[in-house]
Amino acid sequence: MKAVRFHQHGTPDVLKYEDAPEPSIRPNEVLVRVRACALNHLDLWVRRGIPGVPIPLPHIPGSDVSGEIAQIGADVTTVRVGQNVVLAPGVTCGKCAACVSGQDNRCRQFTNLGYLIDGGCAEFVRVPEVNCMPYPENLTFEEAASIPLVFQTAWHMLLARAELQPGEDVLILGAGSGVGSAAIQIAKFFGARVIATAGSDEKLTKAKDLGADHLINHQTHKIREEVRRITNKRGVDVVFEHVGTATWDDSLASLGLGGRLVTCGATTGYDAKVDLRFLFSRQLSLLGSYMGTKSELHSVMRLVASGRFKPIVDRVFPLAEAAAAHAYLESGSQFGKVVLKV
Ligand SMILES: [Zn+2]
Repeated sequence: MKAVRFHQHGTPDVLKYEDAPEPSIRPNEVLVRVRACALNHLDLWVRRGIPGVPIPLPHIPGSDVSGEIAQIGADVTTVRVGQNVVLAPGVTCGKCAACVSGQDNRCRQFTNLGYLIDGGCAEFVRVPEVNCMPYPENLTFEEAASIPLVFQTAWHMLLARAELQPGEDVLILGAGSGVGSAAIQIAKFFGARVIATAGSDEKLTKAKDLGADHLINHQTHKIREEVRRITNKRGVDVVFEHVGTATWDDSLASLGLGGRLVTCGATTGYDAKVDLRFLFSRQLSLLGSYMGTKSELHSVMRLVASGRFKPIVDRVFPLAEAAAAHAYLESGSQFGKVVLKV
């Protein structure tokens, strides 16, 4: 089969469009003919190499997949050959206490498609049967592939971790990112007031179209000052963080009394300081969040199928141009998802 692989870590030019062996499936797995694979920042980290994470080489990246079932294993009963599917990115043991309690993103064997195992930047990918999600028939393959990772991540952050309540104020950083554009829709759906930030007025206009109530251009305005103005000095209830060093101080300073900061990533760096006086006297909560559960993704997919959530596709590249797609995502100029068409 054709696949995009890298044999060493590095810049986008390590990505090679080449022949690779077709995966063979186990009894509990399916083989999926990939039609679209959306990119995430995770793909960039995996390609560059992450200290302490032994990614097997050569490696096929890609976590967000839509396609058709091409083959099913002997024990597979819930999907059939020819059926369209969207895949849950998280692959887990399915047997441990975390998995059976529905908290499969806390499985000790948790990995993503395209992380420690081969992913969807190929004509075929193998996954466990339980990763097959119902296909929302109102979407194209490119749109469907844009949903899973960012929506399940944003859902887990806002609902499971930050316990967002109707009527609360939430500050969503990086509205132009995949996870930011998903978070705006989820927060609005659950009745929050959304303050969104982005680095250009063009991106902010799109954030407004998604339902954001207040907009902050972080290039021209200081986030914490705008938040104080918008909330009458109260601060927000929830900060949705995934940017890291560049925004951390503003994020903390934007929290009101009892505020919760939830973070799923640090695209600008891991270093952050906390003034413990603020942490205890303002009764703040700092919450880490990682991916989401399959159960949460099922909820997301139902809301996508009913048209409540919409995938935001910025640009589609052919699979053979994966290197150009990575470079484009790295440039940060997108609003929503960058997708490879297979
Ligand atoms: Zn498990």
